[in-house]
Amino acid sequence: MNSLGRHILVEFHGCSSEVLNDVPHIEASMLKAAKESGATIISSTFHHFSPFGVSGVVVIQESHLAIHTWPEYRYAAVDLFTCGYSVNPWVSYEILKTEFQAHHGSAVELNRGQLELLEKSDIDLGDLRDTATQKLISPRYSRNVWFTDRNENIALSIRHKGDRIFYEKSPYQSVEIFDTFEYGKMLTVDKMVMCSEKDEKAYHEMIIHVPMLVQPDIRNVLVIGGGDGGSVREILKHEQVESVTMVEIDEAVVRASREYLPTLSAALDDPKLELIIGDGIDFVRQAPDETYDLIVVDSSDPVGPSEGLFSQAFYQDVYRCLRPGGVMTAQSESPRFNQRAFVELNHCLKDIFGVASVHCYLAFIPTYPTGMWGFSFCAKGDRHPVQDLESDRAAQFATAHNLQYYNAGIHQAAFCLPTAIDQMLNG
Ligand code: SAM
Repeated sequence: MNSLGRHILVEFHGCSSEVLNDVPHIEASMLKAAKESGATIISSTFHHFSPFGVSGVVVIQESHLAIHTWPEYRYAAVDLFTCGYSVNPWVSYEILKTEFQAHHGSAVELNRGQLELLEKSDIDLGDLRDTATQKLISPRYSRNVWFTDRNENIALSIRHKGDRIFYEKSPYQSVEIFDTFEYGKMLTVDKMVMCSEKDEKAYHEMIIHVPMLVQPDIRNVLVIGGGDGGSVREILKHEQVESVTMVEIDEAVVRASREYLPTLSAALDDPKLELIIGDGIDFVRQAPDETYDLIVVDSSDPVGPSEGLFSQAFYQDVYRCLRPGGVMTAQSESPRFNQRAFVELNHCLKDIFGVASVHCYLAFIPTYPTGMWGFSFCAKGDRHPVQDLESDRAAQFATAHNLQYYNAGIHQAAFCLPTAIDQMLNG
């Protein structure tokens, strides 16, 4: 070799779109390509871009491997740059072609730093050289891999440890669990964050204890969705509850949570729970009138199987299945991330329950894009979520159960909406 390095510029066409949009798969493929070519890996950084595409680089002791993907064109541009004799970048080329399921690959090889054009000079490191740098230090490998929950204009990225702990493409959606650095294990459905170990309490305590501490006589509960088990765990803290029926469409969510999120899913084995794997929309359509004191709609965002959980017909059935005096709570999306769904759902609920019986409240959930998340409290009757709260009882309950987000003050404050959000709903 008469140059310092070899730089191979690669074009991969006709790849799998799904693979080219999959950060953990791409990172794993690039690491494999580096390792098997004989390189020593130092660090990797991979990001997902909106709405599609992944960019990343693997820094190796012998230079780098870099990638940019365009899943919508089934195309990836890859750079393989290696120095010295020990690494063969063509090994990386073949591995990546297979991993990305490319129909066609082409490459141009450039010699970088042609020796006949270079003049070597002696560098005296002088004072820069200290005893530490003289020792042979083997490089420490670091990874920088990010999960991104996004729409076309807003994204929230959370760094995780790189490997996917759980992945399954179920008949309904893709279900994944990542181990994040800041938030513990995190469940995602179709690339949307569902919950994380560290901040799930905000969501589950607020969707459950707000209705249950306003209406202390709740005995029979129906949960739609909620496959991670967090809502059921909170419901069963109320001893008067006699039965909980949970209807979750996707058994993969339940299985993943049972295996990897035990702090959420432990209550799924409680004898008071009947767990039904099925469509919540069909379930309420067929359920008898006036059966439940509380119905909780713990759904994902309004895409895929959850879409119908944001419809008028579904909530008409929910209303019919509630006993008089009963309450329904639903996660109602973010006024800042998903304003249209937030406003439309609240209007739909007002049409069904009546304007005076629907009350929106907010909680702060850092792992959901924008952090500001909406819930709707809907009463079949005139129970008011703030005026009918016995705050002493709520405070005692929160202390006795060591709740981490809910307290009597938060309960009341959650219904005070920022002016702009209030105008969004009522203006
Ligand atoms: N607890 C979560 C959180 O903290 O955001 C809420 C998400 S929970 C995992 C949402 C569940 O609703 C998902 O597991 C999804 O499979 C389920 N789901 C979606 N559509 C459904 C339907 N039509 N019937 C029943 N469950 C549904």
